[in-house]
Amino acid sequence: MALQSGGDTTLLLGEEDVPPIHEHNVAGRSPFLLTCDHYGRRIPRRLGDLGLPAGELTRHIAWDIGIAGVADALSKHLDAHLIAQRYSRLVIDCNRPPAAPSSIPRMSEATTIPGNEGLARDATEARRRTIFDPYHHHIDEVIDARLRAGMPTVLVSLHSFTPVYAGIIRPWHVGTLYHRDTRLPPLLLSLLRGEADLVVGDNEPYAVSDETDYTIPVHGEARGLMNSGIEIRQDLIADQVGQSEWAERLARIFAEIETTLRMQQLV
Ligand SMILES: [Zn+2]
Repeated sequence: MALQSGGDTTLLLGEEDVPPIHEHNVAGRSPFLLTCDHYGRRIPRRLGDLGLPAGELTRHIAWDIGIAGVADALSKHLDAHLIAQRYSRLVIDCNRPPAAPSSIPRMSEATTIPGNEGLARDATEARRRTIFDPYHHHIDEVIDARLRAGMPTVLVSLHSFTPVYAGIIRPWHVGTLYHRDTRLPPLLLSLLRGEADLVVGDNEPYAVSDETDYTIPVHGEARGLMNSGIEIRQDLIADQVGQSEWAERLARIFAEIETTLRMQQLV
């Protein structure tokens, strides 16, 4: 297990590393702006494997299993702009305030992350400056540009959750995550509940808070945009068939939501 320490902050991403931002359908005309904070599980080459065996780096602790395929396909179906982040949340979690202890976790579920132990301040800042900041600045810029162009913007943050966490089985197939927006989440919940085969979580298995989340509070709530997160259970989208089915299902649901929002003149 190769493990390299922080060192010079400016070189966290080398020529062999990809940029943190992945985008799809940048000229999409949909009012829905899709984000995906835990899309990828890459690690900058300079950080080695964070001291973890390969098996840990493909588990849910490293990323949101299955959501990348759903996000790309949903973006295509809806003609919606997707902004996603390619590096593992074990490097830096793009849905945590940088000051939160879980931003660069020293432990995730029951796994200790050796490469995150005892990080010097410049090593922490390097991760923020090279991954977290560009991703969130870009979301900001895209929202600015859409607002300037008079384009309606509804923020939808895509995630997936593990079927069992800390020994507890989670019964939901899908959940909504929200806090302050009272417009989009009830619509989304009611349409998801209209799907006869689904057990739907209302702010389950997670709820949004300013302390534990970043994307919805900062880009959605603080800017007054309608917003919701969606969590899909990972075993349902572990393969391409499941990802396609869920992308089609969500595309149908968001098309209905768009129709309703247009009737209410909210977009
Ligand atoms: Zn996530």
